[in-house]
Amino acid sequence: SYRKGGYHAVRVGDAFAGGRYIAQRKLGWGYFSTVWLAYDTLSARFVALKIQKSAKEYSHAALHEIGLLSAIAEGDPSNSNCVVRLLDYFKHSGPNGQHYCIVLEFLGDSLLRLIRYNHNKGIGLDRVKNICRSILVALDSLHRKLGIIHSDLKPENVLLVSTINPEKDPVKSNFIPILERPEGNLNGGFPFTVNEKKLMIKTRRALVKISKRRVSMGGYVEFERSLDGIDLRCKVVDFGNACWFDKQFADEIQTRQYRAPEVIIGSGYSFSVDMWSFACIAFELATGDLLFAPKNRPGLTEDEDHLALMMELLGKMPRNIATTGSRSNDFFDKYGDLKRIRRLKSWALDRLLVEKYNFSEADARSFTEFLRPLLDFDPEKRPTAAQCLQNPWLQEPKEADA
Ligand code: ATP
Ligand code: MG
Ligand code: MG
Repeated sequence: SYRKGGYHAVRVGDAFAGGRYIAQRKLGWGYFSTVWLAYDTLSARFVALKIQKSAKEYSHAALHEIGLLSAIAEGDPSNSNCVVRLLDYFKHSGPNGQHYCIVLEFLGDSLLRLIRYNHNKGIGLDRVKNICRSILVALDSLHRKLGIIHSDLKPENVLLVSTINPEKDPVKSNFIPILERPEGNLNGGFPFTVNEKKLMIKTRRALVKISKRRVSMGGYVEFERSLDGIDLRCKVVDFGNACWFDKQFADEIQTRQYRAPEVIIGSGYSFSVDMWSFACIAFELATGDLLFAPKNRPGLTEDEDHLALMMELLGKMPRNIATTGSRSNDFFDKYGDLKRIRRLKSWALDRLLVEKYNFSEADARSFTEFLRPLLDFDPEKRPTAAQCLQNPWLQEPKEADA
């Protein structure tokens, strides 16, 4: 991917925008870009520099993202809506072409790292509530104030507000991944240059030696055993796939596991697709597992498996919904039954939480009451972000339940 039209290879110390920004280290990557921690010499602070691939379609996507991020920033002068703040943008030319660069406020680890770091065990309901509140504040302002559908909400696109001062702290991350793995990003890809890989392997060996701390399975050095004391505020990032609700351009949106049923069956979509993804994230934070993990099974498509998983957990999709999408015929007969999957095992969400994840009956009940309406097959019936923010489950810390 480091070729003409692709990523721009960056070395630590590289200068951008006529010397204003100096690259420090790679923070992450996606299908469209690599993202670097950079020092802004003008404002004397650290920023995140998202360096887009250079081919025309990526530049187009960057301009689109800049447009949305500008509108978001204008609508929120106090920077309190839990969405990443756009600071600047410019073009940078390198051996692989002209790259749009988007300068964003520097944030911390993604929720995906948080979940992995915690060994996929779930992070505790009080923390889940905190994070849910931040995401809902973001969705409420995107949906109601701005008319924007994020359409790619998932744990790697929600970042914790960093509690680390990159200048003072040598670790520079709460849960530092020493060697990112391809599966760390659901979109795949492994955009590291050969030199970067060598450097990471060296750093990893050195750290293991110095710290004598265990390197966990995912390639993470465990610096902190507990999440206690980490203030879990977060912000929504990555508006590359977002759209104005009245100017939609793609039929297939969202990352597979977080995709709403109406997107799969092709019956049009609106803000409520983000509410579906939000519910998937909340479940994943609470349990450490994906809510829906569809697979390609012999003779079946991933879409069919996905719909079957949904119906096993949520009951049968109402016939009028199942049969009225542009792709309904691919999956359903005229009665609204799946054509190729006849037998569904059924699970109730609260039973799943108790039996598989050892939730107490009370926790399972209140969490299910919060989640279940968000997973309505009828998009119109899902609560809005504003309504969710009023939900009693989010209001009180745990003690108040008693
Ligand atoms: P995708 O393939 O999901 O569309 P993308 O190429 O559009 O990805 P982003 O999702 O915006 O890129 O960013 C990629 C990663 O870089 C994030 O998952 C995160 O780890 C890191 N990152 C992005 N923005 C910031 C930021 N403001 N502060 C710190 N890290 C960031
Ligand atoms: Mg992303
Ligand atoms: Mg993106």
